[in-house]
Parts: sequence; C-alpha cells; structure tokens
Amino acid sequence: MLAMEQARDFYDVLGVSRTASDKDLRKAYKRLARKYHPDVNPGDAEAERRFKEITEAHNVLTDADKRRKYDQFGRAYQHAQQSGQWTSGDFDDFLRHWGGAGGTGFTVGGSFSDVFGDLFGRAAGGGVGRTRVETRAPRQGENIEHELQIPFDEAISGAQKAISLTISDRCTTCDGIGGPTQTCSECGGSGVSRQASGPFSLSVSCPSCQGTGRQVTGRCQECGGSGEVLRSRRINVRIPPGVDTGKRIVLRGEGAAGAGGGPRGDLILRAKVGEHPLFKRRGYDVDVEVPVKFTEAALGAEIDVPSVRGTAKLKIPAGTKNGQVLRLRGMGIPRMDGSGRGDQFVKVRLVTPGKLTREQRQWLEKVAEQWTEDPRKDLPV
Ligand SMILES: [Zn+2]
Ligand SMILES: [Zn+2]
Repeated sequence: MLAMEQARDFYDVLGVSRTASDKDLRKAYKRLARKYHPDVNPGDAEAERRFKEITEAHNVLTDADKRRKYDQFGRAYQHAQQSGQWTSGDFDDFLRHWGGAGGTGFTVGGSFSDVFGDLFGRAAGGGVGRTRVETRAPRQGENIEHELQIPFDEAISGAQKAISLTISDRCTTCDGIGGPTQTCSECGGSGVSRQASGPFSLSVSCPSCQGTGRQVTGRCQECGGSGEVLRSRRINVRIPPGVDTGKRIVLRGEGAAGAGGGPRGDLILRAKVGEHPLFKRRGYDVDVEVPVKFTEAALGAEIDVPSVRGTAKLKIPAGTKNGQVLRLRGMGIPRMDGSGRGDQFVKVRLVTPGKLTREQRQWLEKVAEQWTEDPRKDLPV
C-alpha cells in the first residue's frame, strides 16, 4: 500500500504539468483538498490517504528547494535533504498546526483560511461574526447550544412552552463581515503575498487581508462592525415527556444566521431537569423514602404512598425490614421511546411510637417476652 503510494509522481497526484507555476499548484491543491479533506469524508480511509498524498505533493512542489531536489532525484529527494523535509509522518503535526492556526500561523502555500475559507470558515475565523473570511458560497449558520431548565414535573409530563432567548447572531446586514468590502489592494484579491526568504520566495498569507482577499472599508451600521448582533427571540419548545438532564432538544433552523444567504443553523437545547424535594430521579425510575410503622412492617399492611403519578397503593409484606426497598412497577417516568414507564422504588423507614400509653406498653411487653430470637446473635457481644 505504502509502496504503491510512493510510486505516484507528485505532479500526477496534483494533476498538473511539470512546468506548473506555484499558482497552478495551489489551485490544484485547493480543488483536491476540498474534495478529499477528512472533515468532508469522515471515516473514509481512502480519502484520508489521498488528502495526505496531495498535501505532501503540494508541500514539496511549492517549496522551491524541495521541488528542485524532487525534479532531480524523484522520491529520493528526501535523502538529498539535511533537514526540514516533509514526510507523511509529519502529517498529524501539520494538521494540529493548521487546526490551531486560525489563518495566521501556516505560511507555506497559504493559510488554513486561504485553502478552506469558504468550506471551513468557522474553524478559520473562530466563531460567529469574528470570521473575516470572505465567502461567496452560501454557508449554513452555526448551531447554538443553550441550557434549558425544566421543572421536575414538566420533565415527566412533557410540556409546550414559549421561552425567551437572547443569542449572539451573525449580522445579516453585513453577512458577519463587519462592513462593506473591496478587493484587497495589497494582494489584488489573491489572499497571498510573496516574501523573499534567502534565495527563495515564500508564499505567505497576505497580512493586509489575513488571506481573505478582501478588505473591510467601512463599518456596518447594524452591528457597529463586530459582525454580530444580539437577537432576542421567543421560541416555542415542545418538551417531550420523560426528558432527562443532558438530553438535547433540537430546533432546526433556529440557530445563527447563515452566510452568503445560507440557511440558519440549529438551536440545541440541553435539558437540565430540576430536583424534587421528595422524589429522586434515576433515569426513568424514581426513588422515594416512606415512613412505615413498625407494626405495619411486622404484621403487613397496605398503605398509600406518593408517586409521580399521584397516590399509589403499596402492599407492605409482613416481616418487612427497615431499609427494605419495595417496587411499584410502571409507576416511574415515561420512557422517551414510548415503551412504557420506569418503576418507583420505595425505601421503607421504620418508625416507632414516641410515647406509649399504659395499655400499649403492656401489650408490647407481652410481645417482647415472646420474641425469643436474638437479632444480635451473630455479633461478637
Ligand atoms: Zn453588520
Ligand atoms: Zn490581501
């Protein structure tokens, strides 16, 4: 596999002639990188291999020194170098560098935003409105995440409610750019400028326009040049019955405005379900502790207990112990997939009468006389 990869000629890899200019190489690289970038082909090993291949080819051929050596020695160009060579092994470092560069760090062959500006403007620009990447292609707006506090009861029964949210949104007047733009006078719109570096010239991201090819000439009236506006919205949300903390409620098209006329992103509400003074939620099950008279526990009884579905009857079997947990099937919280409800678990807390009447005392003394079994027989006492 590796041997086959290495057999491919860098010029063939990029689909250019051996006399291709730097500009031709960059153009070919951009076109192919968009097609094979791992973000566009998640989990596609072949695409990732191709991306590494074109990246290596690009990096060698746009470096005057490396290109000269490659032309002379072919793939053996690496051995003709002392240091600074580019190999596939450097690829991860390269990506890490790119990922964090935000259009400033990477210089050989153009910055991240040069290459991926219109595809990955978010990564390059750093967020809604702050991106200075000029985009001609429509791009979907960002997803906005927001926490949604839901009272315990509403999370069980479900609810339909209107909520008010203030979100930071892309300014639609200037499309998030901050004002009117013109073609960058420094680089003529290419986003790339050339700098002499020793005997070679390097392509660097144009410092005037940060590689976007456009310069902002004025200040947008709407957003004051920030590219962002605060937007207050009332949104109707359907809270599904059974929703629990951490679940996401997605409202399509309620997120930030898109760029270049692209659609809005989504609003993602992260549910945070409130506590209840009595009921403790455990997934779709509910725990509750209930006081039980020791006589009810000893003799057996049917008692009323609270549940999330209202008052429920609970059978206390004769001989129930303190701390014992009894189950009320189907008395828990409705499952979101519609497959019934969880259970309620009742923990028995035995209570003794605080003060005995004379008659109670006589009866209990009789019980005590008859109760010959020693509960502490296993203890070292
Ligand atoms: Zn604006
Ligand atoms: Zn420029």
